[in-house]
Amino acid sequence: MFLIFGFRTRDKIVSQRPRVCEVCGVHATQTLVRRSTRFSLFFIPLFPVKPSTYYLECGNCGTARRADRRAVSRLAA
Ligand SMILES: [Zn+2]
Repeated sequence: MFLIFGFRTRDKIVSQRPRVCEVCGVHATQTLVRRSTRFSLFFIPLFPVKPSTYYLECGNCGTARRADRRAVSRLAA
């Protein structure tokens, strides 16, 4: 009997809002992305293996930086 298992990491866009980028200083769309890793069995994702992390991506310069809880609650609302 074979068991096919592994981990799958997925990114999901939570919100997109125009804001001033902290890196390039341009007023551009900032995309809030949630990254989650799940254990999968037979290619079916079952449960998360670690807490989700959030990233902010700038639409102008493309820089992705980790978002803290304050930024997540501000941008997701
Ligand atoms: Zn930028």
